Amino acid sequence: MTNPFYLSTPIYYVNDVPHIGYAYTTVATDALARYRRMMGDEVFFLTGTDEHGQKVEKSAALQGISPRELADRVVGRYQTLWQEMTISNDDFIRTTEVRHKEAVQHLWKIVEEKGDIYLGEYEDWYCTPCETFLTDHQLVNGACPDCGRKPERLKEESYFFRMSRYGDRLLDFYEKHPDFVQPLARRNEIVQFIRGGLRDLSISRTTFSWGIPVPGNPKHVIYVWFDALTNYLSALGYPSNRERFEAFWPARVHVIGKDILRFHAVYWPTFLMAAGLPLPKQVFSHGWWTVDGEKMSKSKGNVVDPGAMIRQYGADPFRYFLLREVPFGLDGDFSEKALVGRFNADLANDLGNLFSRVTTMLNKYCGGKVVRTGEGGELQSRAEAVLAAVDRHMGNLAFHLALQEIWGLINAANRFVDRQAPWTLAKDPGRRDELDAVMYHLVETLRLVTLLISPVMPETAKKCAALLGMGEKDFRKEALVWGKLSDGMEIPRAEPLFPRREKKPVSSVPKREVTKPKRAQGKDLLSIEEFGRLDLRSGVVREAEPVPKSDRLLRLKVDTGDPEPRQVVAGVAGSYSPDDLVGREVVVVCNLKPAKICGVESCGMILAVEGKDGLALVGFDESVGPGKKVR
Ligand SMILES: [Zn+2]
Repeated sequence: MTNPFYLSTPIYYVNDVPHIGYAYTTVATDALARYRRMMGDEVFFLTGTDEHGQKVEKSAALQGISPRELADRVVGRYQTLWQEMTISNDDFIRTTEVRHKEAVQHLWKIVEEKGDIYLGEYEDWYCTPCETFLTDHQLVNGACPDCGRKPERLKEESYFFRMSRYGDRLLDFYEKHPDFVQPLARRNEIVQFIRGGLRDLSISRTTFSWGIPVPGNPKHVIYVWFDALTNYLSALGYPSNRERFEAFWPARVHVIGKDILRFHAVYWPTFLMAAGLPLPKQVFSHGWWTVDGEKMSKSKGNVVDPGAMIRQYGADPFRYFLLREVPFGLDGDFSEKALVGRFNADLANDLGNLFSRVTTMLNKYCGGKVVRTGEGGELQSRAEAVLAAVDRHMGNLAFHLALQEIWGLINAANRFVDRQAPWTLAKDPGRRDELDAVMYHLVETLRLVTLLISPVMPETAKKCAALLGMGEKDFRKEALVWGKLSDGMEIPRAEPLFPRREKKPVSSVPKREVTKPKRAQGKDLLSIEEFGRLDLRSGVVREAEPVPKSDRLLRLKVDTGDPEPRQVVAGVAGSYSPDDLVGREVVVVCNLKPAKICGVESCGMILAVEGKDGLALVGFDESVGPGKKVR
């Protein structure tokens, strides 16, 4: 098989309901799967459900149904949600399936034959909600460190896995595979944990029966994590379908939430080592979501239901928001207001507007027909740089950076329209070639944008593709180069891709509201002396970079004629990329009281007006250099 790419979400617990955290893991994994498919890889994308354990048994008993019935009910909710979110998984594994049970028991036998499983007695604290055994020193004020509940004292006959044997080998593996756990900070935590010494792990229970029986001793059921983690093997047909297993294993990446990192980065590799199987290439753990700045919890009633978000805003905008809002790997905050903000600014304004204005102009000025013209030009070089950058970022699961790049291209195209002014070119028959070239470059950019957004926004990409006369076969690596648009192609006018959201949460502020200036009267009028107090100067932007965790703000170093450039935070990231600004001459209010914006000090303000597509900077008719007084 050429380029196998096996990636997985965790299997989700049926004693839980689908929430934003699960949706996040699954959308990210789906975006990566879709991107790899477009790049020609043989992708196997797995998700599923974890259905065994004491909690499921207890919940089912409370509801007066069998554990299996409970599982069936909840599994349906997950499967429906994934369909609504256009998740493209290739398989869905349930731990109650026969194929899984066989794989788990086989793995057990192999490890047991090796002498790494023995029968002993276990006595320790046990947190039932978390299904975790805890040692005295793991307890925090006598409570479970994860959920804060009081654990029970438990003593039972138990099988143990000799995990203690594998500490050194695991450390050695970590040394040789520095990328095994991502992000790096979490890798370091795990290495510290392993260095602290690994204890043998209790891997069977006799206190409940809802699980896979231990081979040869059915009084015991296999510990939930030994059972659950094996899903990554059983879905490949392990151990009977050797060919398939060897084609895809080891997994390229297990995508998980950071709460289950230890199970994936310590337990799982040692189980595999004991079984003599190769280890996965990477475990990538993402962060947690808070909601409106607060921890999500049932008691607060602020648990975000992904289904409700999709019904309100559509699957693509929700997917886009999740991957764009927060660097993958870090914690993030969800608010509906922020979602609406991105919907209107990034999707309706930037992306939607580009499609509608370009196709409208093509129809108005060129009869809807594309005329293929020469290579070169600013959009081509920008697009080529973006293609390379997106590939790099997708390789690092840096979805937010990939999307930033794509939006950089969209904004560059929008500005290209403004500068080239096709409406002016169209008035002069002598400039027909120029007009054709401008439109060709714009439509070609639309084509590439369509391909690039498809992993994150598959439904939108499909709509755009239909407009551009593209089909499924056009979503492939060979099409991800400049200049594939055919000559003479006819393209209709686009309907608005994202009609702006009317219904906004109460406190939401539209990003680009054009305010009409009021005519000042009486005491509102300034005297010339008062105006003179304003220290307005010309400045030259020397450095520009995004302010972390903000999509609006750029941190600029502006030369205003002082010995040191001054730092100014400007809310222009939606309209300008850092590259656009470096070297640019701007008008700066220099004696504005310094302020901290998003934790970054800002000493001054850059003047701008609301243009057609967001902010337009105030500038000069000719180059004036830094530090000139504006009067
Ligand atoms: Zn707990």
